[in-house]
Amino acid sequence: MPQASSALFELERVGYTYEAINTPAFDALTDINLTIQPGEFVAITGASGSGKSTLMHLLGLMAEPSRGTLKVVTQNVSKLDANAQADLRNKTIGFLFQQFFLLPQLTVLENILLPTEYSRQANSRSEWLSRAELLLEKFDLVEQGHKKPSRLSGGQRQRVALCRALIMNPDVLMCDEPTGALDSATAQEVLKTLVELNAEGRTIVVITHDPEVARCAKRVIRISDGRITSDEEIRPIKFGEKEAQLANSSTGNKASATTPRIHSSAKIMSVAYAQIKHSAAQMFVPTFESLATQRLRTVLTMTGLLLGVASIFIMLTLTGQVSRVFSEFFETQGARKAFVSFDGRQAEKTGAPQWRGMHVLHDLPKLNEQLIKLGRIDPLVSAEDCKILSSSNNFQGGLNGMNSLQEAQENNLQVSNGRLPMPHEFEESSGARIALLGSDAAVKLFSTSSGKKNSKEQTPVGQSITVRGCNFEGILTVVGVLKPQDSLMDRGINSNIYVPSNTLLTGGVSPYNRRVVTVPNRGISPTWFAQYVIGKLKIMTDNRFPFRFFAAEQELEKFNLMLSILTGLTLVIGALCTLIGGIGVMNIMLVNVHERIQEVGIRKAVGARDANIRSQFLLESTGLCLLSGALGTFVGIAVSAIALKIAQNFLPQAASLSFHLDIVALIVALIVSLGAGLIFGTWPARRAAALDIVDALKQE
Ligand code: ADP
Ligand code: MG
Repeated sequence: MPQASSALFELERVGYTYEAINTPAFDALTDINLTIQPGEFVAITGASGSGKSTLMHLLGLMAEPSRGTLKVVTQNVSKLDANAQADLRNKTIGFLFQQFFLLPQLTVLENILLPTEYSRQANSRSEWLSRAELLLEKFDLVEQGHKKPSRLSGGQRQRVALCRALIMNPDVLMCDEPTGALDSATAQEVLKTLVELNAEGRTIVVITHDPEVARCAKRVIRISDGRITSDEEIRPIKFGEKEAQLANSSTGNKASATTPRIHSSAKIMSVAYAQIKHSAAQMFVPTFESLATQRLRTVLTMTGLLLGVASIFIMLTLTGQVSRVFSEFFETQGARKAFVSFDGRQAEKTGAPQWRGMHVLHDLPKLNEQLIKLGRIDPLVSAEDCKILSSSNNFQGGLNGMNSLQEAQENNLQVSNGRLPMPHEFEESSGARIALLGSDAAVKLFSTSSGKKNSKEQTPVGQSITVRGCNFEGILTVVGVLKPQDSLMDRGINSNIYVPSNTLLTGGVSPYNRRVVTVPNRGISPTWFAQYVIGKLKIMTDNRFPFRFFAAEQELEKFNLMLSILTGLTLVIGALCTLIGGIGVMNIMLVNVHERIQEVGIRKAVGARDANIRSQFLLESTGLCLLSGALGTFVGIAVSAIALKIAQNFLPQAASLSFHLDIVALIVALIVSLGAGLIFGTWPARRAAALDIVDALKQE
């Protein structure tokens, strides 16, 4: 008869039916009415297959009744959701299984603390630890605390399982054939302990087919074919006086399991040590355990993701560097400039007349006035195919007009000897008869075969050169020699001789110009500006002539486009590697889940919620992917640094390439590996979380 509402278990007309897809439904329990009060020691016995374990699954909240009502500590189980059931199991019920069900990868202490991982109680970790230490002491396991269960005897393992069952101070200890795997002497020990625990006030439910075990209980319930056939109070057998004393002295103070005591400092130290070890272990031991035991499999799996992350990292780093260096290089080449010229070929095709050109002194300033705030245009005044003579040598070459000091700076002209022209030397009235020699031009004109390079007479600065045989005639004084330059567009740039444009004009060069350089102000697109200038030129010339332009910027854009395509392709390859790697991770995690089904069952039995299991496996897959990603990043850093070093050594243009840790690449690598871990870990984690406790525990 159900009496007070303080009962631990109340079953009313409870039935349970096993239903599976391909087998007929089987009624394992029928019409069970049962009440268990706090403090009882109940043995549930019956033949094999009578339904004992099924009943224990119901009492232990591992399965829900198919019919009837089951109340555990007054709560109707069928009205609780999965989380509430897990929490109730964690707090109320301690399990002791025939097979012990310890987690082999955890130490004894960690095994004992397992239920506390899932506790909703406010105890601090050190409180749990001191409680675990008391239990270790009570069950004579102090020496074994940091050992793995595989190094313990059967009796010791069962005592560890008992400690784990007691750590949460549960209302009831539920034992399924607790002595089934032990020899008779050890079995006696365990039974004695159960009797003592009951004497301390703990409720005990033992499921057994062994009459020896049943005789220790105060109440024996017999079931047969899923029905209760008898339920009787018995007078339990007493263990001998001597044995009881022995048990007392070995287990110490009866209250010790629940009452914390003052610890010696050595003990506190060991607690602190265990605490550090414990929290790290709980999170990562399982992953590293499987990493260690399945090393080759894991390494192979990680390789795909590692290569994916590495290739993504390398590509982002290298293209970032190359594009930066090229932009800088183009900048020194006057990437912002464009050349606008009369399109002679187009004129021929369309029958347009030839353009005489723009008068440098009249038309150009007018046009420049219209362009103010947008940029400026400079004429390209030059004398071609002149005979140029120094006191000792001569060569055939041209003179390039310079329009301003600003232009000289924009073109990155730097002297190695002498000076640049003064601003006034560019002026129209001045037309100063001076020249700047490119480094090669200086050598051609002034080096002597005698090798007296360093003597004062040989420096070109201050000497004069004579120009004739072209539309410019005259004598020029060398004021400076230029440092050698790199140029993409003009290979002979170091043979140039620069003369102020006005000097060329006053010396006979035609002031009509069919080709100009356009230089936009900062923030204005060079291509747009060149087109704008063409528009203006067309208006100026009544739309009679065709013009075209060449912008270095467009070359840079083409180059960057190619670089982007290359990057894109490599990123696709990287993404494929990541995908394959991720599928590998998913595979290894599925295998991992499969191999650890029993572990999932154990964790759930001690009170893990589905979410705990999910996040555990998700954490493991994410950890695995982050580890692969970190290794991939290291590989990426090494390969990028080496590649850049090699490029530096073989390409002079790449001199300014250097390895910088690319933050974007780093972030992408992090996101990719984190994402792979989460995406490819989710399914295995869900599968693990969805496992049924009873089925999972049965798994070998
Ligand atoms: P006991 O623990 O007393 O040996 P169980 O509770 O394990 O008995 O099983 C009771 C009955 O239910 C048995 O006849 C058994 O064959 C059946 N049974 C147990 N588990 C399943 C299952 N998963 N599917 C179908 N029948 C089952
Ligand atoms: Mg059984």
